[in-house]
Amino acid sequence: MSMDNQTLAECLTDLPESPTASDYRDAARALLPYMETNVPPMGEGQSLDRLRLLSGVAHRDLGLARLIEGHLDATQILREAGCTAESDKLYGIWASGGPADTTDITGCAGGDQGSARLTGAKPFCSGSDIVDRALLYVYPAEQLLDVDMRGAGSRECLSFEAGQWRSAAFVETHTWSVRFEDFPLTEENRVGGPQWYFHRPGFCLGALAPAACWAGGATGLVDSLRQRKLNDGHARAHLGAMVSSVCSMNAMLRWGADQMDADPNNTSGTLFPSALLVRHHIERACTEVLDRFGRTLGPRPFAFEESNARRIAELTLYIRQCHAERDLEELGGYLEKHPQFCSSSLMLSFPFYRADT
Ligand SMILES: Cc1cc2nc3c(=O)[nH]c(=O)nc-3n(C[C@H](O)[C@H](O)[C@H](O)COP(=O)(O)OP(=O)(O)OC[C@H]3O[C@@H](n4cnc5c(N)ncnc54)[C@H](O)[C@@H]3O)c2cc1C
Repeated sequence: MSMDNQTLAECLTDLPESPTASDYRDAARALLPYMETNVPPMGEGQSLDRLRLLSGVAHRDLGLARLIEGHLDATQILREAGCTAESDKLYGIWASGGPADTTDITGCAGGDQGSARLTGAKPFCSGSDIVDRALLYVYPAEQLLDVDMRGAGSRECLSFEAGQWRSAAFVETHTWSVRFEDFPLTEENRVGGPQWYFHRPGFCLGALAPAACWAGGATGLVDSLRQRKLNDGHARAHLGAMVSSVCSMNAMLRWGADQMDADPNNTSGTLFPSALLVRHHIERACTEVLDRFGRTLGPRPFAFEESNARRIAELTLYIRQCHAERDLEELGGYLEKHPQFCSSSLMLSFPFYRADT
């Protein structure tokens, strides 16, 4: 079954103003045929269309965008690994590490009865009990797994730690910790070899997708301002600055998409710094939009307007997925070693400029 853009628009319009987890599951699953048929992969010449879809969904609802972004990333990863994603399944991708991540693989996958087991808790699992399947990175084993979250044998080996999430933002995306207890694994659960997930060229391709969602969320905020009657010159000045931010975010997404399409295998080695550039710019532009929106309208939308209050809280949290100065330090280190990358003389030919030229 294929879906056209009108059906996509209807699907987004039908999403309730304050979606529940079950609304999110229904909407994301309803979009599966559309995503399979209409959303191009990253790095194959139409990356911008993919980013636009994500921005468009985020413009409508950041929670749905967070889930769609995970699904598209997971299915792209499976494609890169030469595995087939199940077309009627909604996927998540859970790779968060740190001290709260205690996942590990015990036993031996090659054993007669498949004695390998997944144990421990994985934090920050968006759509934890919403998705059908999840790709999960196990750091001690350096292995990406594809696990069935709803199969008959799965549920008894899974539990969800919902109480740790204290923010109202994204509360219905159920970004919970998932605990696995003796979750049985076979060779079929493995996606790529050890470390493949981080070392594949496509790792950089997925980095623009969250930024596209951030940009879409901020654009939604700006558009809500554009529907109001502006009271004074200060409001008009802020609007001008915010629309300028929206335009520059779109230009950066286009530039980033061009980089990915021109060199999807990252032979130039410039895709990661390119993605960091785009992500930084968009994170800053979103921060400016959030700041100016509040300075324009004061506290009322934050306190009394349900959809704007939620959007502001979610965008504020979502952009924290960037690694801030840690990313900038990496970018600066790269620039130090590669003086030609984005040098000002080359940038003068923007927008035809490519980072590896
Ligand atoms: C809404 C949302 C949904 C997400 N969904 C997913 C998902 O589906 N899948 C997924 O894989 N990931 C998800 N993430 C997680 C995300 O990808 C990162 O794992 C997360 O942003 C943390 O990154 P980080 O550990 O690299 O920390 P960074 O942001 O890079 O760094 C944080 C720094 O602060 C330090 N720090 C933090 N707390 C303290 C403290 N109390 N005291 C001292 N130092 C401290 C840390 O040690 C670290 O150095 C989600 C995040 C958000 C916000």
